[in-house]
Amino acid sequence: MSDEANPFESLQSQIDDAAAHLDVGDDVIERLKHPERVLETNLTIERDDGDLERFKAFRSQFNGDRGPYKGGIRYHPGVSRDEVKALSGWMTYKTAIVDIPLGGGKGGIIVDPDDYSESELERLTRSFAKELRPMVGEDRDVPAPDVNTGQREMNWIKDTYETLENTSEPGVVTGKALDSGGSEGRVDATGRSTVIAAREAFDYLDKDLEGATVAVQGYGNAGWIAARLIDEMGATVVAASDSSGGIYNPDGFDPVAAKDHKNETGSVVGFEGGEEEITNDDVLTLDVDLLIPAALENAIDADLAEAVEADVISEAANGPLTPAADEVLEDKDVFVIPDILANAGGVTVSYFEWVQNRQRFYWSEQRVNEELEGIIVDAFDALVESYEEHDLENPRTAAYVVAVQRVADAFEEAGSWP
Ligand code: GLU
Repeated sequence: MSDEANPFESLQSQIDDAAAHLDVGDDVIERLKHPERVLETNLTIERDDGDLERFKAFRSQFNGDRGPYKGGIRYHPGVSRDEVKALSGWMTYKTAIVDIPLGGGKGGIIVDPDDYSESELERLTRSFAKELRPMVGEDRDVPAPDVNTGQREMNWIKDTYETLENTSEPGVVTGKALDSGGSEGRVDATGRSTVIAAREAFDYLDKDLEGATVAVQGYGNAGWIAARLIDEMGATVVAASDSSGGIYNPDGFDPVAAKDHKNETGSVVGFEGGEEEITNDDVLTLDVDLLIPAALENAIDADLAEAVEADVISEAANGPLTPAADEVLEDKDVFVIPDILANAGGVTVSYFEWVQNRQRFYWSEQRVNEELEGIIVDAFDALVESYEEHDLENPRTAAYVVAVQRVADAFEEAGSWP
């Protein structure tokens, strides 16, 4: 992974690329390139051995013109103020391209959760929830899972908030377990939209998904579900990787068995269905029809992009390509389905969860998946319309043209206060 690109600067350059095709004033664009506010806080918890430890944490509320701030909370040693700001901006344009009535936010704690016990992580999460309490709420800001967080952390956040507020408000956070007010289909949602978007792109490009070869970088929740679902659609998953390395089998392998192996051993490496052990960079540069980067930001920089041989990329991760990599891939005619659309299934089903929480009426998994399908297909159609209308070279810019216009309209219609 390269760390050459600052993700916040990447976000701003993506907005600038779109602004060049929009009739929106520079003053408004300038506003839409910065978060409204960022909380920076120091959490202190007691370790199991009785010592105290301090952790830095952030929550960025980027834009709330289209609805409550919405976005996950990640636990990772690489979390930084600029990373959280970028991710909150990407959430803003993600909720806009899929046209759900939410804004954008993101949070993070600088921590490697592998180094802490479950009870330490519970104290840390509850401590962050206490700090967040004044700024979150189902009509204010609604956190969700992100890298290294999941249902367990969301249940703790909900419980802390409800206890302190003396209320029942499950919609304060999404991505909860079903028994705590979660939604059917939420766990699969990010991987599901990644493959729905890929299917639409193949259709648009007149390419056959049946038998297409697929490489998946990152085998966490987004990556492995995408692998399972694309396999069910008739494509052949030939490579996968995680932080320990990668596996490759030109004839394909069973993505579910690879996941079982990872559950047992901690990695896909060593899985008997993978003939060859390869590196993470090898997975990204294989000659495949579809590449799914599903790990962290900046996985592909300009140098690596020169070696990419995939025809289509569907970004399950947030920000996996640096802007310089984007330019290289544009010159090579690689069709990149941008993160704000490809992985928007997560926040879309979070939206459904929030709606269900507010109505106290729960949907079947079939209904969730059907509604998700409709939203992602509509967003892809909006991308294609903008791509053709503005004669764009890059699908990411096409998506941002639509999304920035929607946020700008809401901002301008609201007027200024005071
Ligand atoms: N963390 C996910 C994302 O980056 C989901 C956010 C949400 O559900 O609010 O889109």
